[in-house]
Amino acid sequence: MLIINKVIKLNKNRVRLAIQKSGRLSYDSHELLKSCGVKINLQKSSLFAFAENMPLDILLVRDDDIPGLIMDGVVELGIIGSNVLKEQSLTRLLVKESVSYTLLHKLDFGVCRLSVSVPLEMKYSGISCLQNLRIATSYPNLLKRYFDKQNVSFKPFILNGSVEVAYNSGLADVICDLVSTGATLDANGLREVETVYHSCACLISQKIKSLVPEKKIFIKKLLNRIKGVIKARESKYIMLHIEKNKLNAVTNLLQGAERPTILELFGNKNKVALHMVSSENIFWETMEQLKLLGASSILVLPIEKMME
Ligand code: ATP
Ligand code: ZN
Repeated sequence: MLIINKVIKLNKNRVRLAIQKSGRLSYDSHELLKSCGVKINLQKSSLFAFAENMPLDILLVRDDDIPGLIMDGVVELGIIGSNVLKEQSLTRLLVKESVSYTLLHKLDFGVCRLSVSVPLEMKYSGISCLQNLRIATSYPNLLKRYFDKQNVSFKPFILNGSVEVAYNSGLADVICDLVSTGATLDANGLREVETVYHSCACLISQKIKSLVPEKKIFIKKLLNRIKGVIKARESKYIMLHIEKNKLNAVTNLLQGAERPTILELFGNKNKVALHMVSSENIFWETMEQLKLLGASSILVLPIEKMME
């Protein structure tokens, strides 16, 4: 807190953004900022960094501290998994503390789900099989909300890490933990049976109304860049040659951000060149279908930046 307070005193007029110091969200958070043109200068303490080219200071903290830093007014912006944000919001409501933040945008990383997993040998025919079992989790509130909706009771066993080993070490009957690929569950002899919550990283801010106009303007500008980066990452620029009478079939295959551009081909009156921004990634299967329609010289290019 001492360092955070020092930062606040030093930079009252700059926007403060909290991101995870080290963990699953750190790399993507740094990359996102870089793609938005933020030049980060990491300070020696490594708890604090500042943007050289814009009024933005960055606090590097544990992800669990980020919702509180926003809601208690210490930082204006934060990048946090919605799982942590929702869990902490539910805790705050229980202890009658205020829950105040604005969700500015869902981000395209940190995608995972909070799931209940049972031992492979357990016969599972529905959530009622979990009645009164001991469930190890770091997310008791999200879990309770899910079970309450289905009128099933359970005994929470709260762990702050290594939840996946709770079953094998006899601490719990089943577990409720974050999953992305499921490989950790396989390795521990567990099987996913209920999805309690779908999560992704989010950009959040203090209640936007409570911010001074200069900070609001800066946040809006940064948000537009973030939206542009995410849109560009989802999109592809596609170029191909196709016979004129196949144009409709080709455009039906491609999800376009805009109408395609059609260009004449030198020395060939039947064929045209088609250029378009696809709002989706182009997979090999789509390219093969384009080829079957007679398209040639198919090029798919990444887009670096986008602004609408
Ligand atoms: P910290 O030291 O900051 O408290 P942590 O150990 O609590 O870190 P991480 O494991 O780095 O947290 O996960 C951070 C966030 O990454 C999670 O809260 C979640 O939003 C997201 N995430 C994405 N995929 C997964 C996954 N497979 N397992 C765990 N978290 C995931
Ligand atoms: Zn954490």
